[in-house]
Amino acid sequence: MYHSRKVPLEVIPEEMTDIWSCTSDDCNLWMRINFSMDEQPVCPKCKTKMIETKKMLTPLANNSLYRLKS
Ligand SMILES: [Zn+2]
Repeated sequence: MYHSRKVPLEVIPEEMTDIWSCTSDDCNLWMRINFSMDEQPVCPKCKTKMIETKKMLTPLANNSLYRLKS
């Protein structure tokens, strides 16, 4: 019997995710909103104001997310 070491790649659909995005032109840092603060943050890298926007992202690994709140 043939065993491949390769794990088959699962196709994970991306979904629109709310993120904070740095408004600086020189910085493209962003972070997911769900597990950050609810106040508007400043960019941890350049201290510029961040704006709420959306980005296509693969959903977070299931386990870690669900464990947080229950
Ligand atoms: Zn920044």
